Amino acid sequence: MDAHKSGFVNIIGRPNVGKSTLMNALLGERMSIITNKPQTTRHRIIGLLSTDDYQIVFSDTPGMIDDPNYKMQEAMNRFVYSSFEDADIMLFVTQPGEIYAEDHPLLSKLRGVTVPLILLLNKMDLASEEELVALESWWTARVPFTEVIRISALQKKNTPHLVSLLLSYLPEGPAYYPKDQLSDRPERFFISEIIREKILEQYHQEIPYSTEVAIESFREDQTRAGEPLTRISAIIYVMRTSQKAIMLGKGGSAIKALGTEARKAIETFLDGKVFLELHIKVREKWRDDEQWLRRFGY
Ligand code: GDP
Ligand code: MG
Repeated sequence: MDAHKSGFVNIIGRPNVGKSTLMNALLGERMSIITNKPQTTRHRIIGLLSTDDYQIVFSDTPGMIDDPNYKMQEAMNRFVYSSFEDADIMLFVTQPGEIYAEDHPLLSKLRGVTVPLILLLNKMDLASEEELVALESWWTARVPFTEVIRISALQKKNTPHLVSLLLSYLPEGPAYYPKDQLSDRPERFFISEIIREKILEQYHQEIPYSTEVAIESFREDQTRAGEPLTRISAIIYVMRTSQKAIMLGKGGSAIKALGTEARKAIETFLDGKVFLELHIKVREKWRDDEQWLRRFGY
């Protein structure tokens, strides 16, 4: 039997090149809740692909946005450069039509990579052979990639091939996380994020920015028919009584709609039935209160 393999595969590339779509293609649809987060989260969030024989720890880096101003450079240093430090394999994603300047700092950074470095030409379904050849030769003339592959993350073209390629470069090692885990973050974290996302979709003006979500309880139970059921109770904190009224809506219609949408998304995420209870509480000035901020993880 072959030894167990494990390692960190860091995905970099500009927004919109298809990094999240790729992670969904590799890890399954449940991952979309996780992979669609990075733009709004300041942390790197990882996705895990495990079998009995291996565990690949993917991380999709958020802050790689080109902008000549200093703040963005700083963000790039923090996110992208930190992802260069701990990778066993680096994936750089680009797409036809995407241009980098000759003196873009990323180029020299890529040249310095000492681990296997794979160039992914994504969205091959949208490009002509000529465009793909041009893109590949531009990059390979400037950076010594270990491998180059064309993929379509959306159509899952060549993504199985990418996995076998990754396995061929993955070092031997133990699993870093339990094999049934999807991410390094607890499920509670994603559930509160899902509820927040639904609040953003459904309410307007200052409401989304005046609310916080706390998961009060989370437990495995059974339906009357004996099927697994996850019972979740969440508290939505608002700052004023008037906001509570808006959140509730006429006869509670707004909070009911929110609960339905959030429950559906959580069911997709947990891959099972969910009973969701939402409570609204008024906490004046939660934003300034240290104890509360700590409770919300700031
Ligand atoms: P990210 O910002 O790098 O995470 O990019 P996303 O994964 O969010 O993808 C940005 C957009 O490109 C979405 O509309 C995707 O559906 C689309 N997209 C991603 N991969 C492909 C692909 O292989 N082919 C096509 N046609 N569209 C893609
Ligand atoms: Mg993304």
